[in-house]
Amino acid sequence: MKSTMIEDTIFHKIVRKEIPSDIVYEDDEVLIFKDINPKAPTHLLLIAKKEEDFVSSIIDLTEETAHVPLMLIRKAQKFAKEKGIDGYKLTFHVGEGGGQLVFYLHLHLMSQQEL
Ligand code: AMP
Repeated sequence: MKSTMIEDTIFHKIVRKEIPSDIVYEDDEVLIFKDINPKAPTHLLLIAKKEEDFVSSIIDLTEETAHVPLMLIRKAQKFAKEKGIDGYKLTFHVGEGGGQLVFYLHLHLMSQQEL
C-alpha cells in the first residue's frame, strides 16, 4: 500500500486514543508504548504522531518523510538513556517479506533490561 492512500491501522487508533495502549512516553512528535506481545523483558514500539509524518513502511519513505526513522531512533536513544537502559536492539520490520504486520512505520526497542 502507498502512504498516499487513506489508511487506518491499529496504530492510527492508538494515536487517536480510540483503543487502549500501555503508553510509557509521549510528546508532540512521538508515542512510545509497550508491545502487546513482548519478545523481550522490555519491548516498546515508537511511532510518529503527526499526520504529516505518517508513512506506512520504510519501503514507502519519501523525501518528505525521510526524517521520520531518524527521529524515532533519536527518541529511542533519549528514552533509553533516561530510563538507564544501556543496551538494546532497534528494529524496523520492512514489508511483508520482512515480517511487517502493521503498516504504520514503527521502531521496535527491545532490551533484556526491565523498564
Ligand atoms: P511488525 O509490524 O512486525 O513490526 O510488528 C507489529 C507489532 O505490533 C507486533 O510486535 C505486535 O505484537 C504489536 N502490536 C499489535 N497490536 C498491538 C497493540 N494493540 N498494542 C501494542 N502492540 C501491538
